[in-house]
Amino acid sequence: EVDWFSLVSILFLLAFAPLIVYYFIMSCDQYQCSLTNPVTDLLSGNQHLSDIWNKTPALTYKAAGIYAAWVAFQVVLYVFVPDFCHKFFPGYVGGVQEGAVTPAGVVNKYEINGLQAWIITHVLWFANAYYFHYFSPTIIFDNWIPFLWCANILGYVVSTFAMIKGYFFPTNAKDCKFTGNFFYDYMMGIEFNPRVGKWFDFKLFFNGRPGIVAWTLINLSYAAKQQELYGHVTNSMILVNVLQGIYVLDFFWNEAWYLKTIDICHDHFGWYLGWGDCVWLPYLYTLQGLYLVYHPVQLSTANAIGILVLGLVGYYVFRMTNHQKDLFRRTNGNCKIWGRKPDYIECSYVSVDGTKYYSKLLTSGFWGWARHFNYTGDLMGSLAYCLACGFEHILPYFYFVYMTVLLIHRCVRDEHRCYSKYGKDWKSYTAAVPYRLIPGLF
Ligand code: NDP
Repeated sequence: EVDWFSLVSILFLLAFAPLIVYYFIMSCDQYQCSLTNPVTDLLSGNQHLSDIWNKTPALTYKAAGIYAAWVAFQVVLYVFVPDFCHKFFPGYVGGVQEGAVTPAGVVNKYEINGLQAWIITHVLWFANAYYFHYFSPTIIFDNWIPFLWCANILGYVVSTFAMIKGYFFPTNAKDCKFTGNFFYDYMMGIEFNPRVGKWFDFKLFFNGRPGIVAWTLINLSYAAKQQELYGHVTNSMILVNVLQGIYVLDFFWNEAWYLKTIDICHDHFGWYLGWGDCVWLPYLYTLQGLYLVYHPVQLSTANAIGILVLGLVGYYVFRMTNHQKDLFRRTNGNCKIWGRKPDYIECSYVSVDGTKYYSKLLTSGFWGWARHFNYTGDLMGSLAYCLACGFEHILPYFYFVYMTVLLIHRCVRDEHRCYSKYGKDWKSYTAAVPYRLIPGLF
């Protein structure tokens, strides 16, 4: 059943999320990244909606061609180039890997080759920028709004296709979820793991590529634009490139681990993931770099070092917390966390078919500090990207606000699920670790 709050939120997002993205990008293009000036201009009658719209770059054949080539290239790297990185990089888990058990009991196999796709794409990018010069490294910035139309088209086509596929030719009919509410099903998805053929997995592809591979390229394009406009690249732009680059590389280095996260384990594939990965992620996660093209902030050395430290500590907390849980679960508790045997709470749950299973909830290490300390690290990193942009405008802070809302919502959603799953054992766990994100506060 879909409650009215979920339905209203879904209708709001379906109607307004594309406009929100447009508003942010247009504000930079036409108002130097001021979020308030477009509104005051409209309210005072200085501009009409049609004036803003008429100044917005249209979809071009050139942009459509580049975008199609980009997506096609990522499909080729994903489907046709088996992973070779795991043969060279010690400790890297790539190649064919198994995902988590789906609600219908299926264990999907995935070709984990995201790191390789990222490396190949970036090597080609740098080879072009420094040697071949086939296109300008500012190409992404220069076509940013025309690409927005292409990304929207892809996002809607993919989500609509996923919906139709869920009804008429699902990959696994038992893993489909129909609520009977068209909007909910369109937004949150019907199929759990839609695939075309044996290997093209929608969730893994759209989550990681083209969006996250593009993330670092988009930032590089912004840095190149700064160089073109001002003759130098500011330290804030370098910070944003480096910190977000670490986050992206971490994602691909741990792509196999990612198969066990909420996005892949619990979410179905609909507009939320399909459109979100094509439009929301590449456009709104990169706002800091875009902002810095219009406002080239040069930070004092002390501020730059402070932000770098915040970003790196945030990353460390994020990675170590995830690592501790992963190690604990993989070894069934036979491991060391911070040099000693971990503490945990034994828990059990009953699956739909009535079988009883046992599991463990870690209460040592960062997991003894708060129940979602990995989110806390993520938020510290997010704040660092935003702080690099100074305090003149609120636009670059959108990412931090958004991540805070997303991750708090996730805490609630996840805890609701865990409580339904573990019942009184979950209560014992929340009594042992009473805080969610910040020990002593929340
Ligand atoms: P978690 O990795 O925290 O996974 C939550 C699950 O872990 C729970 O459902 C439960 O599953 C299990 N669990 C909870 N507590 C414990 C415990 N104490 N010991 C052992 N297992 C436990 O959440 P996500 O998958 O959401 O996040 C993964 C990472 O991805 C996070 O670091 C997050 O910050 C990041 N992220 C980033 C986003 C972005 O857009 N940049 C978006 C979303 C996430 P079970 O049923 O197995 O018990």
